[in-house]
Amino acid sequence: TIYDKYKDTFERFGIAKSGNKGVFDGEWKGSGPIIKSVNPVNNEVIAEVISGNVNDLNVALDKVNEAQKIWRDLPVPKRGEVLLSMRQALVDNLEPLGKVVALEMGKILPEGIGEIQEYVDILEYALGLSRMMKGSMIPSERPGHVMLETWNPLGTVGVISAFNFPVAVYGWNSAIALVTGNGVLWKPSPTTPLVSIAVTRLLEKTLHEHKLPTSLCSLVTGGTDVGSSLAADARAHVLSFTGSTKVGRQVGQVVQGRFGKSILELGGNNAIIVMEDCDLDLAARAILFAAVGTAGQRCTTTRRLIVHENIYDTLIERLIKAYGQVKIGDPLEEGVLCGPLHTQAAVSVYEETLKKVQEQGGKILFGGETLGGNFVKPTLTRVNKDMNIIKEEAFVPILHTMTFKTLDEAIAINNNVAQGLSSSIFTKNPETIFKWIGPAGSDCGIINVNIPTNGAEIGGAFGGEKATGGGRESGSDSWKQYCRRGTCTINYSGALPLAQGINFG
Ligand code: NAD
Repeated sequence: TIYDKYKDTFERFGIAKSGNKGVFDGEWKGSGPIIKSVNPVNNEVIAEVISGNVNDLNVALDKVNEAQKIWRDLPVPKRGEVLLSMRQALVDNLEPLGKVVALEMGKILPEGIGEIQEYVDILEYALGLSRMMKGSMIPSERPGHVMLETWNPLGTVGVISAFNFPVAVYGWNSAIALVTGNGVLWKPSPTTPLVSIAVTRLLEKTLHEHKLPTSLCSLVTGGTDVGSSLAADARAHVLSFTGSTKVGRQVGQVVQGRFGKSILELGGNNAIIVMEDCDLDLAARAILFAAVGTAGQRCTTTRRLIVHENIYDTLIERLIKAYGQVKIGDPLEEGVLCGPLHTQAAVSVYEETLKKVQEQGGKILFGGETLGGNFVKPTLTRVNKDMNIIKEEAFVPILHTMTFKTLDEAIAINNNVAQGLSSSIFTKNPETIFKWIGPAGSDCGIINVNIPTNGAEIGGAFGGEKATGGGRESGSDSWKQYCRRGTCTINYSGALPLAQGINFG
């Protein structure tokens, strides 16, 4: 069995074939239904996990809250030291953890390892922040007064994550939540429970070594019931949700209904614009990675290709050639670039989408075939910019191609979808570049030039506008999302001058 084949890897993280406890709140437990982790290569069950239920969540939220009271009192650079140890634990387990991601999610091993590397990177970033997160002093209009801005933790950050980045999304959220002094409760995707257990075990060990309460990083695996209860619970002061726009819309409303803070990272419908003056070789290589990488299952995967009409035929010819050379297969096999889709349901989405493309008058230029099991051929279509089917996010490797005549037209096509996550333009013209990144340019959160839409670095804020939810995670000043901001005015004058010169009595 697949478990036996990779037994050493699983045992390293205390994962057995069955009976794994999927809840951690300082102790390992689980009173919910059994969930199965399935290998997308052949849909064989890898291992079983006893997931959590709403009662487990209830207890865990109190435990995180208790632990956070200790954690928040630690000087911030001391928190940084703990993050440094977490980083080391991940570095020591980089390949085995990457392998668990590849086995459970189905992405190729280099991308699985890349995800752990991203978690390492963000811990380094958070370590840096631990010496640099600063408030400001604001000039006061009153004599003998000082105004300060303070940034304090909010309490508990609930993290609900998607299947496609089963580690990195938690990594971004937890690293920043922890350095800002919060506790974390993680509700991972029900289809990737094993890697969440593996990561949590490493965090447990690290916190224990630092003599800190291990429930600071709690885990409750489970499905919709656990997720929706977490969203509704006022003890999750910040609810960071990564997933589909459909579920995110519900979660956002529930969190708003209790005046909690939400960070929403939802679906994308990302486009690349290819200008006539670009380096076509560079563009073709970037498009291949952006559209086929992770078998089209990244939130930032390129789904629409908007090409200047004069170079369309040349570019498509190159892409068809490149697509023909992509090795599809077991993600743990060397040289494979495209693994399986995560589930059978995704295969149906692939088939349905291509059916609709044809019904709406589009053509299949390359691919369009299912290959048995969860495997499909990455596909290129020729569409018209107004078709309904290209307005939706289908989480599979289908790239819709279309033409344009003017830059304004291309930007309008880019912006004419509900989602606003990532976008990119290929050009050598500075005028085009500055228009693209300016007020009349791309309306997305990620606006690239001469690179793919995917593969973001951790240093910048990550997220998107419109139906992508508006949240920002990871770099820049995203850490402020995990804090409550205090404006403090301190009077040391001995008198009581009022603002706006008001004389009261
Ligand atoms: P999904 O929305 O089906 O599930 C996401 C998470 O929500 C899972 O943990 C699930 O158990 C939970 N959930 C389901 N119903 C819930 C409810 N009613 N209340 C609370 N939680 C609930 O998404 P998925 O299929 O796992 O992931 C793919 C989607 O995620 C794509 O749309 C992709 O674009 C998006 N995504 C976005 C980003 C980003 O940063 N913008 C990153 C990765 C993935």
